[in-house]
Amino acid sequence: MRTLESYVCGAWKKGEGELAKLYDPTTGNVVAETGTSGIDMHAVLEFARTTGGPRLREMTYAQRAAMLGAAAKVIHAKREELIELAVLNGGNTRKDAKFDLDGGTGTLAAYARFGATLGEAKVLFDGEGEQLGRTARFWGEHAWLPREGVAVHINAFNFPAWGFAEKAACAWLAGMPVVTKPATATSLVTEEIIRILADSGVLPEGALQLICGSAGDLLDHMQSQDVLAFTGSAATGFKLRSNENLLRNSVRVNVEADSLNSAVLGPDVAPGSETWNLFLKDVMTEMTQKAGQKCTAVRRIFVPEAIADAVQAELVSRLEQIKVGNPMLREVTVSPLATAAQKRDMIAGVEALSAECDIVFGSTDTPEVVDADADAGYFCGPMLLRAKDAASSSLIHEHEVFGPVATLVATSGTAADMSELVRRGGGSLVASVYSDDRDFVRDMVLGIGAWHGRLYLGSAKVADQTLGSGVVLPASVHGGPGRAGGGEELGFDRGMRLYQQRVALQGDKSVLKRLFA
Ligand code: NAP
Repeated sequence: MRTLESYVCGAWKKGEGELAKLYDPTTGNVVAETGTSGIDMHAVLEFARTTGGPRLREMTYAQRAAMLGAAAKVIHAKREELIELAVLNGGNTRKDAKFDLDGGTGTLAAYARFGATLGEAKVLFDGEGEQLGRTARFWGEHAWLPREGVAVHINAFNFPAWGFAEKAACAWLAGMPVVTKPATATSLVTEEIIRILADSGVLPEGALQLICGSAGDLLDHMQSQDVLAFTGSAATGFKLRSNENLLRNSVRVNVEADSLNSAVLGPDVAPGSETWNLFLKDVMTEMTQKAGQKCTAVRRIFVPEAIADAVQAELVSRLEQIKVGNPMLREVTVSPLATAAQKRDMIAGVEALSAECDIVFGSTDTPEVVDADADAGYFCGPMLLRAKDAASSSLIHEHEVFGPVATLVATSGTAADMSELVRRGGGSLVASVYSDDRDFVRDMVLGIGAWHGRLYLGSAKVADQTLGSGVVLPASVHGGPGRAGGGEELGFDRGMRLYQQRVALQGDKSVLKRLFA
């Protein structure tokens, strides 16, 4: 059996003592083990601060951008091996594995292209500056400088490649070294990616370290110039952001957490229209891709009462075509869940939601599977629930079932009512609104915009171009207020700000304008 290692202080290191086991979700077999006991977390952070940080800050934006491009290329070159590991340890279908891997390398490549536009600068300015004195001689500017600590990235189990790469792209381009910690359960893919990067020599020494297993007391050694970016459950996010050392040192913390994302179908959308088809296609993708284990997956589907039965019938007929089983097979679209615990949580979640919903497709019983042992693997079939009463429902807005499950909610169809229901989610990563009626779209944007990090506006005009509501694009911010964690990532330069200090400069305009020219 393979024993995974952490990459710390420039060397690979195995954990000591008892190790955590990693499983193949299709068979339930152990495929690897890992641990971090014996790793000096203080030394890891110091190595990044004293080695990787200065080397990255020496580089210009264009040089760091070129580094990101090279990192994307070397990872992409090993795509086939990485897909196999994602199937083995994540239970991903090949398509889902590509989604994760290509999302990761695509984000690195997009940040490389964006970084190249920043040129040979080492310091970026925020805006054009302002006259502060009686004349323009006394002038004010705001400059962005890389923070001089280390970016600690703690990621969720569902995107072992993309989760690592999207955070690293922002931090590296901003000029900070990275310590990445994938979720232990699916760390096989991340460990291999870090090996590829370490062997390639595309990164300066100290720019990247890997903690493969428990974080131990890592957070207790973080300092004021460091940054913690976390993705995972709201419960863990709360625990981490409450860490006394982080609070005492005002360590910047970004949290990307649970989200009860919505799809809203406008009352103007006629069955069979282009917008209707886009809505159904997107909802089906969101329910089944990565077996619904996506932070951006649609959990709540709001439709006008008048067409709720038609929507239900369409979704059920499409769900009936879905095959669950061996993720290696092309015909299988829904893979097993990543761990036995995820399967238990999904069943418990659906049972809880059943108090206020009818199950209109699927069941919590072990599903029929193709070419796999249904009882050995962590299989759950897709399920569609329907809220019994929109007005009195509460759990559907509070409990995230992290699997191929969504709830259909019949509503009056007005923007005001739909907005009120969407907002009950307490803040989400994304909502998708499907309509060709500009007034309805505007009312929805005003009604729910402040409660989201991203709104995806699906219409007939964009139906042939969109990538779906669940795709996190490097050019747009990702994150959401409230329950979604309150964080913000990506969006090109917006995502770099977490890793930089904005400093106001006040002085002689002619000096300020030439300081970094
Ligand atoms: P999780 O159990 O909260 O774990 C997330 C990460 O936190 C893992 O790397 C875990 O490490 C680590 N962790 C747990 N306790 C820790 C501690 N005391 N100190 C330091 N690190 C600690 O979440 P998950 O089950 O992996 O992921 C599923 C959840 O993530 C879902 O709720 C989903 O909505 C959310 N998610 C959100 C986004 C987003 O962008 N908003 C994206 C993906 C997923 P170990 O594995 O070693 O315990």
